[in-house]
This record gives sequence, C-alpha cells and structure tokens, in this order.
Amino acid sequence: MANVLAVGEIKDGVLKKISKEVTSAGRKVADAIGGELIVLLIGDGADGLAKDVAAVGADKVVTAKASEFSAEGYANIISAVAKEKSVNVVFMPHTGDGKDYSPRVAIKLNAGIVSDAVGISVDGGKVVAKKPIYSGKAYANIKVSSDIQAFTIRPNAIEVVEKAGAGAVESTSASFGDTKAKITGKELSGGSKVQLTEASIIVSGGRGMKGPENFKILQDLCDLIGAALGASRAAVDAGWISHSHQVGQTGKTVSPNCYIACGISGSIQHMAGMGSSKYIVAVNKDAEAPIFKVATYGIVADLFEVVPALTDEFKKVLG
Ligand SMILES: Cc1cc2nc3c(=O)[nH]c(=O)nc-3n(C[C@H](O)[C@H](O)[C@H](O)COP(=O)(O)OP(=O)(O)OC[C@H]3O[C@@H](n4cnc5c(N)ncnc54)[C@H](O)[C@@H]3O)c2cc1C
Repeated sequence: MANVLAVGEIKDGVLKKISKEVTSAGRKVADAIGGELIVLLIGDGADGLAKDVAAVGADKVVTAKASEFSAEGYANIISAVAKEKSVNVVFMPHTGDGKDYSPRVAIKLNAGIVSDAVGISVDGGKVVAKKPIYSGKAYANIKVSSDIQAFTIRPNAIEVVEKAGAGAVESTSASFGDTKAKITGKELSGGSKVQLTEASIIVSGGRGMKGPENFKILQDLCDLIGAALGASRAAVDAGWISHSHQVGQTGKTVSPNCYIACGISGSIQHMAGMGSSKYIVAVNKDAEAPIFKVATYGIVADLFEVVPALTDEFKKVLG
C-alpha cells in the first residue's frame, strides 16, 4: 500500500501551525491514493500533541525523542520511519529546520523532491505540486518521477481542513544515530518577536519609513495585532533594521494571510518574497507605485498619518 508521511514541527513544546498544514496536504493525498496518513512528531511533548494532528486527519501519529534540533539527526529519524511505514509520499515543512533536513531525507530515500509547494493535487496517482517560479511571477505544476515523492510545503499556503483521524499514537525507536555535526550553542539574531516566515500578519516598512527611529510605529502596530515586522531591502541596506527582517528575493519568503506594506514601492525583488500573501494592504504616497498592482487594498496617503490611525482604530476594536 502507498502510505503518506507528514512531518510536523514542535517548538518549545507547542505544535506549530505548519504541522496541521502538512497533515492536511497529506490527508488529501492519502484519500486520493488510498493509503494511510502517518504524522511524525519529533521532540518534547510530541505524545500530548498527537490529538491536534489527529483532528486534521492523521491515521497514525509516530512520536520520536530529540532533545535538540539536528538536521542530520532529524533526517535519520524521518527516513527510518518512512522506510518502516512503506511510505511513498513525504510532506515536510518549508521552514528553517525543514529546509535543512528535507534534502537529506530525499537523498536517504532516493526520492525526487519539490521544495516550497503552495498547492497540492493528485493526478493519475502522482502528487502534483504547485510551486512559484521566476521570483513568483509564474507557477509550475510539478510531478516527481521517482517512486518516493518528497515535498516541502510553504507555511500558510495550504488550507487546514478539520477531519477526525484515528490518531493512534506509537513511538519509534529511530534515533539521531551518528551525526557528524553537533550544535554547541545558539544565538538569537534579534529578529521579529513573531517568526516572520510563519506569521499570519506581517507589517513591513520600506525606504518610505525615512529612518530607523520610525520603525517604532510599525512595531507598535505589530505588538497590538500579533504581527511580525518585515522590511524591504532598501530599509535593511540603509542600516535601519536587521537583515533578519528582510522580505524578498534575497530575504525571506513569506505567505501570511495579511501583508501590510508601508512606504514600499513594490519592486519585483520585494514581491518575489511576499506575492503569495492572501491579502495585501499597501500604504504609499505615490498612486503609481507598482505595489498597488498586487494590493488587495491600497491607501494612497502618508504612512505617518495612516499607521498611527490604524493602530488607534485597532486599539478601539481590540480593547
Ligand atoms: C539582486 C537583487 C536582489 C534584491 N532583493 C531584494 C529583496 O530581497 N527585498 C527587497 O525588498 N528588495 C530587494 N532588492 C531591491 C529592490 O530592487 C528595491 O530596490 C527595493 O525593494 C526598494 O525598496 P523600497 O520599496 O523600500 O524603496 P523604494 O523603491 O525607494 O520605495 C519607497 C516607497 O515609499 C513611498 N513613500 C515615501 N514616503 C512615504 C510616506 N511618507 N508615506 C507613504 N509612502 C511613502 C514612495 O512613494 C516609494 O514608493 C533587490 C535588488 C536586487 C538587484
């Protein structure tokens, strides 16, 4: 039987939203090809989180122990479980961790891999992954020709569908094994309080912010609505904000429900990183700015009036 494996992600004992998204992608494919959907959760608290992925269709939840992240170690566990469960399709998160271990998993399973998929369908028993190409200006639908097909899924791109699965929990004895690299320490880069790549709302500032001190008005709005703070490269290059906030071709690729661009013109390189956002709100003084071509809502105005007004209105609504 052709089974499907979805790999979830746990951070600080909490199940990340992408885990439900990869599970929903897996459920769709398992239903289409008639296989079983197994969800693998690695890390502390995995047993207690199994019910959350069962609620979106996991037939089985395999839990594995790991006290820290290791791309090699995770790849060893994922590939061992995939082999043990006769898996033909593997979905992994296109997150920082996922991007690190997914190519290693593909090599271990001799699988072809499509990374950064934003849509999943099935045709003739094979998974078809929709993936942005040419900096997000077009989409390619790609099938993997190898027996085992592997995919990474962009956060916030796949709709989570509630569907009760049996969710029988079992633990695996698969372990990190002998890893060549060991993490000896971690240092936070001083990025967003909310993870940019997984945020459902992002407020970004560009050259129109005019200086580093003005990012505070964006941060205030972010804090109020639980958004992550983004920036254009112009703002980063000017030294107003760190590169960890940069969205675009040479920054992060994001796909939030709502992207609020303030004082950003909308260059192709910027849009390559945020063009797949569900709703785009642009605040720009120049009515001809290219960002308005992709914006769902456009506000032609001075951001220094609009942003504080928005924050005040949110304060009233949210209390
Ligand atoms: C190889 C390469 C890779 C790149 N990678 C990236 C990338 O990853 N990310 C990225 O962002 N860019 C990237 N760039 C740079 C990109 O081409 C643009 O230069 C950059 O995105 C412009 O940033 P901006 O929109 O903030 O600035 P600008 O294009 O200067 O736009 C500023 C906007 O602010 C508006 N504005 C000014 N004052 C106000 C105000 N008070 N109220 C409202 N609006 C106001 C202006 O009307 C203008 O539209 C890359 C370029 C290259 C060549």
